[in-house]
Amino acid sequence: MTAPDLLAQLNPTQAQAADHYTGPALVIAGAGSGKTRTLIYRIAHLIGHYGVQPGEILAVTFTNKAAAEMRERASHLIHGADKLWMSTFHSAGVRILRAYGEHIGLRRGFVIYDDDDQLDILKEVMGSVPGIGPDTNPRVLRGILDRAKSNLLTPEDLSRSGEPYVSGVPREAAAEVYRRYEARKKGQNAIDFGDLITETVRLFQEVPAVLNAVQNRAKFIHVDEYQDTNKAQYELTRLLASRDRNLLVVGDPDQSIYKFRGADIQNILDFQKDYRDAKVYLLEHNYRSSARVLTIANKLIENNAERLDKTLKAVKEDGHPVVFHRATDHRAEGDFVAEWITRLHTLEGRRFSEMAILYRTNAQSRVLEESLRRVQIPAKIVGGVGFYDRREIKDILAYARLAINPSDDVALRRIIGRPKRGIGDTALVKLMDWARANGTSLLTACANAEQARILDRGAARPVEFAALMEAMADAAENYEPAPFLRFVIETSGYLDLLRQEGQEGQVRMENLDELINAAQEWAQEHEGTIADFLDDAALLSSVDDMRTKTENKGAPEDAVTLMTMHNAKGLEFPVVFIVGTEEGLLPSKGALVEAGGIEEERRLFYVGITRAMERLFLTAAQNRMQFGKTNAAEDSRFLEEIEGHFDTIDPYGQVVEYRAKTWKQYRPTVPAPSAVKNTSPMTAGMAFRGGEKVKHPKFGEGQVLAVAGVGDRQEVTVHFPSAGTKKLLVKFANLSPA
Ligand code: ATP
Ligand code: MG
Repeated sequence: MTAPDLLAQLNPTQAQAADHYTGPALVIAGAGSGKTRTLIYRIAHLIGHYGVQPGEILAVTFTNKAAAEMRERASHLIHGADKLWMSTFHSAGVRILRAYGEHIGLRRGFVIYDDDDQLDILKEVMGSVPGIGPDTNPRVLRGILDRAKSNLLTPEDLSRSGEPYVSGVPREAAAEVYRRYEARKKGQNAIDFGDLITETVRLFQEVPAVLNAVQNRAKFIHVDEYQDTNKAQYELTRLLASRDRNLLVVGDPDQSIYKFRGADIQNILDFQKDYRDAKVYLLEHNYRSSARVLTIANKLIENNAERLDKTLKAVKEDGHPVVFHRATDHRAEGDFVAEWITRLHTLEGRRFSEMAILYRTNAQSRVLEESLRRVQIPAKIVGGVGFYDRREIKDILAYARLAINPSDDVALRRIIGRPKRGIGDTALVKLMDWARANGTSLLTACANAEQARILDRGAARPVEFAALMEAMADAAENYEPAPFLRFVIETSGYLDLLRQEGQEGQVRMENLDELINAAQEWAQEHEGTIADFLDDAALLSSVDDMRTKTENKGAPEDAVTLMTMHNAKGLEFPVVFIVGTEEGLLPSKGALVEAGGIEEERRLFYVGITRAMERLFLTAAQNRMQFGKTNAAEDSRFLEEIEGHFDTIDPYGQVVEYRAKTWKQYRPTVPAPSAVKNTSPMTAGMAFRGGEKVKHPKFGEGQVLAVAGVGDRQEVTVHFPSAGTKKLLVKFANLSPA
């Protein structure tokens, strides 16, 4: 294909941008306007028309997947595409540091630490830093370090700047941890993820010859999704482009969705200040979405106060109406989606791979997966491990396993340090030796740590742990699966651990909520104990494993894609379902209390909507299970903003009038039947009186002998003719008046 042919496949403005030869340029435009396409064509045009060597071109994308796709698309347009340098910021950093890291003291063969390795070092160094208490969470510290790095702050910068506390940690102490962490890491010839950018920046600043050499390999630089760059990435780009100044960046401020990771929308807004001679190309036509989908996107984003006004006109026809459906609950929502997928597949001949389900949080995927599985729709989940493979789920299930089987040493080793209980590796080894010598379980060794003088110091700790496990064993006897798991989560100290982990802990907590929900639903459908539930959970996860394995074989798979809206950035699908358009999910709970939070959530919804090419479905649930309890949910405020531009359909597919479902209107109504059924196990603070007759789901009728404590801690002693006398926490025991 000759060069002029290439530009003929673009509209006039796109073609101008693709024909941009030297100097800085900014392509700023709404979703689906062909920014990425223009960027790829520009690269092809540089080579085909201006005679630039593929080996002089760099293109930075947001994900490895996007880089691979870009390379694939470029290879159709030009020869020698394999010589193009296309990568993410992080993999570019690895490549540069592998080649030149020795100049700044990195030894050959340095290793890259992942998140868990980072935590290991932090745990090692934090203990001896004044001002860091034993209950300071290393994840909080990791968050502080990561943020400092994305803002290019050294330990010294961190100790100097701002408030006395950073994320609840004394600033000076945080800086000291940072300092020691860096020293330790260096001693081990390792770098972490953040270093991939910051060390490259330092290398460029300290060794101009290296910068020059890399610049020869990157005479023409492209950055896609520029709106989501952070300070460190910005600086890296600036240094790289400082000699030849051939920098073309592409982005959409309305799609900036990574502020929580340090992305700074100002980078794109200030581009013209940084490069006064920058050429700006505004693309105004959307080629991706039907006119109806685009109207919704435009209407929505207009509500953001802080934005650059842009035009985005549809090239495509009206197309199918956008559909909104409010299901009775989250499961009905999943079933609605599954039903439509089946319908589109069988009646319209749509491939499953043309359809995507997008959600706000990974925790939402479980119910959707189940709905799809029931009707045998193949699905693949992008980003996010299978539900039962998640660490927090595995941990809590390990507690449960140990509670019902005290000889499960593997489970014990998994959880004895989560949360930290002051039982170190040396102690654990001694306990293991004793257990082996005496032919007992590790838990028995813990229980005997003091009496049998297994440990010289700190023997009380394993004894406490054994007592905790005994309480859990009782709970496994006395409570139904869902309340039992909640008991485990709370009494193990796991919840407190997560509470300190910020954003990440929040996500893990949501997943644990989902686990409780799963147990609750399981109990509604099965007769059985927690042990049976654990078996089923294990089977489910091994099915997941098999599925991943078949996927990895590279078999051509026609599957529906499930992912978060964050992960969907830059992608497109003919059919898109956005589920959970409810207050508290989209916008998320966290966004409500954060400055600019709602606007960021609106941008995220905008990203979601603009992934759709032909059909868009929005769904919400009237009742959503959270904390094992079904709560009435309110429609997302964003629905009101686009009202009048979608068809609301009822479960029979009939178009009905949209009426916003808000607390005001719905508070007095009777809860849905499932809500009534599910509330009892979680009834907090339900008052029982001595002498009262009560009913327990397992032990049958009994009589309250004594009551102690109030609220969440209320405990009753009940005599059951069938099972003897039991002490039960009211909150978990699922007692009802007999
Ligand atoms: P996002 O903001 O979501 O990253 P984008 O601006 O990068 O979107 P692209 O992904 O490049 O948009 O393009 C969106 C869709 O429109 C793609 O399928 C692309 O091939 C198509 N497209 C873009 N420009 C044209 C054009 N001039 N002619 C035909 N199709 C086009
Ligand atoms: Mg794009």
